[in-house]
Amino acid sequence: MPELPEVETVRRGLEPILVGNAFARVEQRRPDLRFPLPQRFGERLSGRTIEALDRRAKYLLARLDDGEVLVMHLGMTGRFSINGSATKPPPKHEHVVFHLGDGTRVRYSDARRFGYMDLIPTKSLDSHALFKALGVEPLSAAFTAEWLAGRLKGKATSIKAALLDQRLIAGIGNIYACEALFRAGISPMRLAGTLASKSGKPTKMTGPLVEAVKAVLEDAIRAGGSSLRDYKRTDGRLGRFQHRFKVYGRAGKPCSKKGCGGTVRRIVQGGRSTFYCPTCQR
Ligand SMILES: [Zn+2]
Repeated sequence: MPELPEVETVRRGLEPILVGNAFARVEQRRPDLRFPLPQRFGERLSGRTIEALDRRAKYLLARLDDGEVLVMHLGMTGRFSINGSATKPPPKHEHVVFHLGDGTRVRYSDARRFGYMDLIPTKSLDSHALFKALGVEPLSAAFTAEWLAGRLKGKATSIKAALLDQRLIAGIGNIYACEALFRAGISPMRLAGTLASKSGKPTKMTGPLVEAVKAVLEDAIRAGGSSLRDYKRTDGRLGRFQHRFKVYGRAGKPCSKKGCGGTVRRIVQGGRSTFYCPTCQR
C-alpha cells in the first residue's frame, strides 16, 4: 500500500505534467474502481485546465479551472505512468487514460482496484466525508511539539496507536510510525499521554518525535518512495527506500544504533506489526 512518501513522490512526478495542461479526452475502460467513477466523468473533465496538484494525506487533489477538484487515491496497487505505447488490446489492469492537451497520455492502472477517483466541488472539499476528520499534515508547519503535546495530553493509548490515528495526524502509515519511534528512541508501547505535561506542554521526548516523523518522511520522499509490493513511481522506476529501513522488517537483527547492542523485536499492536529495539527505545 503506498504511504504518504510514495503519494508525494507521485505528486511531484505528475505536477509538471498536469499543471497548466488541460484534459483533452478521457478513456474510461470500466464504470468503477473501488467505487463507481463520477457520472459523465470524461465529459466533465474534457476541456478543463489543471491549476494545481496538491496532496492531502494520501489523496491527490487536481484543482480544475471550473471550481471542481479531481480527487485521486492509489488504493493498494494504483499507479500512474506517462505515455507508453497504445497496445491492443490495452493492458488488462489499465482502467483510465487521460489524454492531455499537449498530447501527453497519463495512464492509470490498478490491478486490485482499491483506487478511487471522484470530482468534488472545491468549496465543499474541507467538509467532505473524506477530509473533514483528517488530522494535521505531518510535513506542514502546523505539526509542532506544542501542537502534538496539546493533543496527546491525558491520552491512554500507546504512542504507536496515536501516530497511526488519521484524525490526529494524516497519512503516517505503519512503516513510518515504526521508523520515527526508533529514530526518536521512544518505545512504541509508551503511553501517548507521557509525551505531554499535565498542562499539555511538550516533554523532552515530544520535540524529537516530531522531528523524527518529519525526517523519516522527508528521507523517504528524497529516495523516491519505498515501493514495497508493486508500487512504482510515475516514470516506472522502483524507489529505493526499503533498503534504508533502520528497524522495520528487521526482527532478530542487531539494532543499527551505534553502541546499542540490542536486538530488534517484532510485536503486534492493534493488528499491525511493530518493529522496535527494546534496548534503546524507552
Ligand atoms: Zn537499539
